[in-house]
Amino acid sequence: MNNPIISVSGVRGIVGESLTPDIVLKFGISYGTYIKGDKKIVVGKDTRITGDMVVNALISGLLSVGCEVTYLGIAPTPTVQFLTRKLNFDGGIVVSASHNPIEWNAFKFYKKGGMLFDNNDNKKLLEIFNQKKYDFIDWRKYKKLNYDTKLPELHIKEVLSFIQNISSIKSKKFKVALDSCNAAGSFLTPMLLKELNCDLKTIYTSPNGYFPHNPEPIKNNLKDIIKFMKKNKCDVGFVQDSDADRLAVLDEYGNFLSEEYTLALAVYYILSEYDNINFLKKNYTKTVVTNLSTSKMIDDIASKFKVKVYRTPVGELNVAKEMITRKSVIGGEGNGGVIFPPVNYGRDSFSGIAIILQLLAKSNLKLSKILNQLPKYYMIKTKFNIKNIDVKKLFEKIKKELPTKRINKDDGLKFEFDDSFVHIRVSNTEPIIRVVAEAPKKEKVKKLVEVIEKCVG
Ligand code: MG
Repeated sequence: MNNPIISVSGVRGIVGESLTPDIVLKFGISYGTYIKGDKKIVVGKDTRITGDMVVNALISGLLSVGCEVTYLGIAPTPTVQFLTRKLNFDGGIVVSASHNPIEWNAFKFYKKGGMLFDNNDNKKLLEIFNQKKYDFIDWRKYKKLNYDTKLPELHIKEVLSFIQNISSIKSKKFKVALDSCNAAGSFLTPMLLKELNCDLKTIYTSPNGYFPHNPEPIKNNLKDIIKFMKKNKCDVGFVQDSDADRLAVLDEYGNFLSEEYTLALAVYYILSEYDNINFLKKNYTKTVVTNLSTSKMIDDIASKFKVKVYRTPVGELNVAKEMITRKSVIGGEGNGGVIFPPVNYGRDSFSGIAIILQLLAKSNLKLSKILNQLPKYYMIKTKFNIKNIDVKKLFEKIKKELPTKRINKDDGLKFEFDDSFVHIRVSNTEPIIRVVAEAPKKEKVKKLVEVIEKCVG
C-alpha cells in the first residue's frame, strides 16, 4: 500500500489507496494527543463524497483522547481557520484535498489562535503517530460530539463587518457569476454575495459530493463559466477551489484573468484605500508580503504607492508569519490566495471577493478598465522531471546559463533581472522541480524556461 503524503501543508492521499480509515483514525488520535488545554476542536470538510468516511474516522480518534469536537459539516478552509481563532478553539481541522482531484482527500491542521501547524508541530505530531504515543482516556472522561452547521455564517458576518461602504456595493447591484465547483464555497459564497445585493448567477453550487470539473482554479478547468459569461453579461465572475481558500476572477467579457491577478487587485485596492481606513491605519502597516514565485505586478503596484514588498519562501504559513512580523495590511500568494489579516492569517476567497467588489464599487470602472491600469506580464508555471538528476550540479549549470548577480537562495533559486525572473524549487514530495518565470514579453519568458529545460536535458 502507498503511504499518504505528509508535508508542511498537511496529510493527503488517494482514498482507498494511501488514505484509509485506519490511517485517518491514527491521525485523529495523534492530533488529539498533541493538542493541549481543553482540547476543544472544530472540524469542517469540503463536499467530496469520501468526506464522511474521513471525518467519522478522524472524529472517532479525536474523541478517544478526550477532545470535545464541534463538527460544522461542510465548511471552507478559511471558515474553519477563522472560527478556530474567533471562538478560541484549541485546534481546528479541515478535511479537504483543496485543488487536488476528487479521488484525493486530506487534512489540514490548525492550532489555537488559528495558525497552521508549522514544521515543529508536524514533527511532534508525526512522532506521536509513528511511535503510537497515544493518550487514550478513561470512558468516564469522554466528551460529546457537537454538531453546529450555523457557526460558519459568523465568518461571512466578519467579512462583511470590514467592508467600508457596504451601501455603495449594494447600490451597484453587481451581476456576479460564481463557480464554487459544487464544493465548500457552495453555501457561504452565495450568502455573502446576496448580503451585498448582487444579482447572482451560480454555475456550480450544488454540493452533491462530486465535482463538475477539476477543482484547481486554472483556465483549462473553467470552460463552463467562461462560456456562460460570454453568453450572459455579468460584471465579474468568481471561481473558488474545493476548500474555497483560493479565488480566481473573470472580467465582464468572461475573460479569465490569470490567478496572479487576484492578489494584484486586492493589493491595489487595499493600498489605495489604506490612508482612508482608520482601523487599518491603526492596526497594520502599509506593507505587502508575498512569496518569491508571485508576479512582479505586486512590486509595481506597491512602488506606485511607495510601499515595501517583503518576499518569503512559497507556502501560506511563510507569508502569514512574515505578515505578522511586519504587521502588514495585505499579503498572499499568486495562486489566487488573498490574506487579509483582520479576518484571517490565511488565504481567504471570501475576503478576496469582498475586496474586489469594493474596488469595483469605489472605482466605478469595469474590471477590464481597472486591469488596464495594472502592469502586464507573461508568466509560465511549469515543472520538469529530475529523477536521477543531481540537483546541485543542475543548479550550477543553470547559474552559468543565467548570469545575474541577483540570485535569491531563500527557497530554491530565484534569478532576478530588471523586468523578469525565474524561480526554481525542488518539490518535497515528488522528483520534480517547479519553475515559475515571468517577463513583460511572451518570447522572453519562453526563452527563460527553455534555458532551464535545456539544463535539465
Ligand atoms: Mg485550497
